[in-house]
Amino acid sequence: SDDALIAVDNIGDAARSLLHPTLRFGVTGLSRAGKTVFITSLVHNLLHGGRLPLFAAYSEGRLSSAELQPQPDDATARFQYEDHLNALLEEKTWPNSTRAISEIRIRLKYESASGWSRTFGAGELTLDIVDYPGEWLLDLPLLGKSFEQWSREALALSHLPNRSDLAEEWHKALEAVDPAANADETQARHLAAVFTDYLRACREDKTALSTLPPGRFLMPGDLEGSPALTFSPLPPSQGDAGKDSLQAMMERRYESYKSIVVKPFFREHFARIDRQIVLVDALQALNAGPAAVADLETALSDILGCFNHGKRSWLTSLFSTRTERILFAATKADHLHHENHDRLEAILSKLVEKAAERARFAGAKVDVVAMAAIRATREAEIEQEGESLPVIVGKPLAGETIDGQTFDGKTKTAIFPGDLPDNPAKAFAESEAGDLRFVRFTPPALEKTAEGITLSLPHIRLDRAMEFLFGDALR
Ligand code: GDP
Repeated sequence: SDDALIAVDNIGDAARSLLHPTLRFGVTGLSRAGKTVFITSLVHNLLHGGRLPLFAAYSEGRLSSAELQPQPDDATARFQYEDHLNALLEEKTWPNSTRAISEIRIRLKYESASGWSRTFGAGELTLDIVDYPGEWLLDLPLLGKSFEQWSREALALSHLPNRSDLAEEWHKALEAVDPAANADETQARHLAAVFTDYLRACREDKTALSTLPPGRFLMPGDLEGSPALTFSPLPPSQGDAGKDSLQAMMERRYESYKSIVVKPFFREHFARIDRQIVLVDALQALNAGPAAVADLETALSDILGCFNHGKRSWLTSLFSTRTERILFAATKADHLHHENHDRLEAILSKLVEKAAERARFAGAKVDVVAMAAIRATREAEIEQEGESLPVIVGKPLAGETIDGQTFDGKTKTAIFPGDLPDNPAKAFAESEAGDLRFVRFTPPALEKTAEGITLSLPHIRLDRAMEFLFGDALR
């Protein structure tokens, strides 16, 4: 019977994974959090051996090889490691950011640390690194909502003071339609376009409002322009909305979005992840002020709700993850002097406090780190009015400005980025947030050792992240 076949197949799977253990390692975070940069640096450091004192298998000399393997899932794009590396090293620009899901496989061979396992020869671990937009996780709650309920909530949010200006065009367009009237494709496209503009405006707003679903409207992947992405919330119709009405059309498409887009993603990708890193650009929010910090906290708890496999709602039981370890990482720590790294870590801990607690309760191991996947600056001290000031030195990107000075992208500059608040609670308080100054830097060149050996991409605490995420599987 079919059941027996599936059972046999599962045994095959289990046997294969005993012989060739495979970990699916998810990398997520909101747009521009640093996913592409992180994976590129991680792979580069694994392939070429970097300065990784905290990554035990490597620093103890037990990692005998690391090789890229063909990406095993035919329906998923491969992560374009070579192109991204080329952008960094040859073109001296940052690589193109994540727009959709992609995957890369790397095989590690290692000697086990324990004598008992050593007698069985070298171990092998296959890492499938899966890169996907954090925006997509915001879609999970939609599965539990009808079109009517979602419309009501989305409209209510859009009338709040901080969003209503951004929603003006969309609101106008909604006033001009009658949900009960016959559906019209041009109208549907227009509504979807102004609704998407509103979502985008929220994301790009200077107060850094958190991102709203549907996640694919801003990160469409290959579904751009398809009917499943061409709808908009509607106010309740006054008249009778029949099956040919605009309302019926929008509702159908909303349901398609859930069945064609959301469910397959959670079933085929999210539910299969063993280890997860969630990258967070906390510095950008801190730079923008307490309102942005509060908003980031909301966005993160929405995202992290997906990992909350403790609460067994029907949703989580359908798409529950098997994620055993979750690392929250504040990226771009190279924008700060190291004296501030612990403060950044403390602020991130506070941001994800509730979510982390729930994940721990559900049995996952959780940790928090401040890191830079690629370190684009170095540290120095400068004398100012008899005092020594800790600064960072790097080449700001062309066009970046600080204190009225605009950079040309070629000049090394010392910058005092400011101090993060010593007490993380202050990052959330209007009057006490620190005075921070961040600029983006050009990517670094590879350094050579005195012996002429070229080193891997420089980083801050990337090795700590690696050890937490998969070091245990290499013991
Ligand atoms: P994604 O949208 O999550 O894939 O984000 P990216 O990985 O493309 O990163 C967005 C931008 O953040 C990059 O273009 C860099 O300017 C910056 N960035 C990301 N990671 C780092 C880092 O470790 N150090 C520095 N200095 N900048 C970073």
